[in-house]
Amino acid sequence: MRHLDEYRDPSAAKSLLRSIRRATTRAWTLMEICGGQTHSILKYGIDELLPPEITLVHGPGCPVCVTPVELIDKAVEIASRTGVIFCSFGDMLRVPGSHGDLLAVKASGGDVRLVYSPLDCLSLAERNPEKTVVFFAVGFETTAPANAMAVRQASRRGIDNFAVLVSHVTVPPAMSAILESPDNHVQGFLAAGHVCSVMGCAEYETLAERFRIPIVVAGFEPLDLLDGIHHCICMLEEGRIGVENRYARAVRPGGNERAKELMAEVFEVTDRKWRGIGTILRSGYRLRSEFARFDAEARFDLGALRAEESRSCLSGLILQGLKKPHECPEFGGRCTPTSPLGATMVSSEGACAAYYQYGRMKVAAG
Ligand code: SF4
Repeated sequence: MRHLDEYRDPSAAKSLLRSIRRATTRAWTLMEICGGQTHSILKYGIDELLPPEITLVHGPGCPVCVTPVELIDKAVEIASRTGVIFCSFGDMLRVPGSHGDLLAVKASGGDVRLVYSPLDCLSLAERNPEKTVVFFAVGFETTAPANAMAVRQASRRGIDNFAVLVSHVTVPPAMSAILESPDNHVQGFLAAGHVCSVMGCAEYETLAERFRIPIVVAGFEPLDLLDGIHHCICMLEEGRIGVENRYARAVRPGGNERAKELMAEVFEVTDRKWRGIGTILRSGYRLRSEFARFDAEARFDLGALRAEESRSCLSGLILQGLKKPHECPEFGGRCTPTSPLGATMVSSEGACAAYYQYGRMKVAAG
């Protein structure tokens, strides 16, 4: 805790807030990409402590929130089959598909299991040779290396009763799509430190140049976030573009070369659909042809699934920073964490869940 306390020190936070106030001369809109950062901002009340000129909007950096409803429907269909052990991280179990979620499959007798690592699925597959073990491989660049490792190990160890349902997405194309939108009002980004610890900063340099904006790589603790906001505001006020790495204790400019090599060995870049947003070109990963036998979508004949999004859920607008959760008419009424209408209320990293958990309903009432 002592190490964490360094990044939560109240007097250092007050000093950074004073610096932010001094630096701010006009209105600015910043987006933090990562849902983990959104939760820290709401949990520590950073949004309420900033000068009124600064607006923070929340980005699409929550893997549970952006997994398309079609993939949830496919997961539900595969998990319902006999002879399948379907494994997933916890949050994905409660995300509603068109006609139910994975927990409902489990409740009606499906073998749906919560795992903490895709590698756990390999031993499960070895212990259950008569079953097919399927892992729901969701996430950003942070989870892709472990999922690539699981597939490579399955290949090397000949574990052929293992498959992955892949829904990997990558951050920079989503930032690009947000900046290209005619409705965009984001002027600077806080980039997610853990993603950059894997991928490095090169793609962000390209984005900053192309869109003439500042991007600050930031961590997740209160002082990390205040420091990132301060640097982003200073860059905006001074008219500077480019990338500043303010999370150097975890992020090297080149990222993690071994993780990147592993991902490149197993995955290739593909277009991906994002829930509530639509297809973003070259924004995700799929298995390379050498590993196609581990592709759950190819292994199971899923037929024609008709996916249906909830019509009343605004999560697509929230994930693009165009609306805030309390602006959704369903927020806190028909939609709560115990009866969520959309993934952004389900996920522990979702923006709607953060607003609900940390009591921002009063904004809606006001
Ligand atoms: S409050 Fe619920 S219905 Fe509204 S955007 Fe969030 S998840 Fe969707």
